[in-house]
Amino acid sequence: MDRHIVHIDMDAFFVSVERTRDPSLIGKPVVVGAVEGSRGVVTSASYEARRYGIHSAMPVAAARRLCPHAVFVPGSLGVYSRVSRAIRGIFETWSPLVEMTSIDEAYIDLTGFDRCYGPVLGTVDRILRQVRETFGLELSAGVATNRLVAKIASKTAKPSGLLRVLPGCEEAFMATLPLGRVPGVGDSLGARLSGLGLSTVGELQRLDHDLLVRVFGATGEWLYAMARGKGGLRVESERPPAKSVGHSVTFSEDTVDRRFLDGVLYHLAEKVGARVRRKGMVGKTVTLRLRYSDFKTVTRAASAGAGTNCDSEIFEKARALMLPLLERRVRVRLLGVTLSGLRPADGQLGLFTAGSQVRSLRFYRTLDRLREKYGFSSVRKGRAIWLENWRRPSGEARQKAV
Ligand SMILES: [Mg+2]
Repeated sequence: MDRHIVHIDMDAFFVSVERTRDPSLIGKPVVVGAVEGSRGVVTSASYEARRYGIHSAMPVAAARRLCPHAVFVPGSLGVYSRVSRAIRGIFETWSPLVEMTSIDEAYIDLTGFDRCYGPVLGTVDRILRQVRETFGLELSAGVATNRLVAKIASKTAKPSGLLRVLPGCEEAFMATLPLGRVPGVGDSLGARLSGLGLSTVGELQRLDHDLLVRVFGATGEWLYAMARGKGGLRVESERPPAKSVGHSVTFSEDTVDRRFLDGVLYHLAEKVGARVRRKGMVGKTVTLRLRYSDFKTVTRAASAGAGTNCDSEIFEKARALMLPLLERRVRVRLLGVTLSGLRPADGQLGLFTAGSQVRSLRFYRTLDRLREKYGFSSVRKGRAIWLENWRRPSGEARQKAV
């Protein structure tokens, strides 16, 4: 049976939502993200504005120079998130396997649904029309046998398009692509490839497997598969775990300051740990959520073995997940930590529990009691002490349980 992986991407999502709220913006160059002051980075630009060279992550001041008569709108993430959830709801009426990879992108697995809905291309067309009619928003879709090709297809189809790469045609489809258009080929890999005189995937296809692995190591394996149009198959609907405790903070200013981020992360780990201990539970999975200044949101999870409710362990897991994400060199806007897979802590203090663990449990019990009596910030420990000498993460007022 052919796999039908669909990638759907909203076209200029934030701008389009703004236009449904204010139709006078239709047809004009519109830039979202125009908050005055230091936070002025473009988060979304209409196609009319893009014609002037405006693109996301560009400073608003630069965008103003390129197109002074554009309409600048501050943007409202709360509204966009609500619309995004509603769109997801439509997707979920078509398949249980819906994975939102960002606020405006989703993978849907329609494998095997031909029997209910008919040929896949018609089905995707109906889904797109349903979103257009319900929300007045434009979107594009790619259909292929795997995620990689589906994603490139949806990008190729933009705006308002639908493109299917037929099973067996993946390699031929990839051949014409410039390497820079392939998701996963970042600036540094792109530079190495172009240093070797390669500019399209077709040129890459001529290099044999062993050579690529010798030159690029594990990345060589990926390049070889990518060039042949092979990509991931799994579409995972990341349903929130039944039992979890989480906290998140949105910063008043986006930052890449590691000491500050470490401090915030520790603070979140403490809050999560305290709540889980209060419930008398331990959790098996630590999840880190990170949102960049361009609103790209990444979620990473790690196992905490048999279970933990220990602040420093939650912190260490979350930090190990965060550090690689900072290599993107884009400022961070939000951090969140969640502990899930909760179960009662009974039996945690087993016969073989190490002495240090017993001591740390006693320590937390004392700490939690002090905080219950004098308030959470009466005691600060570890890296969160840093926050005292810093401006407080001012989004903390908005901090809430996930
Ligand atoms: Mg988009």
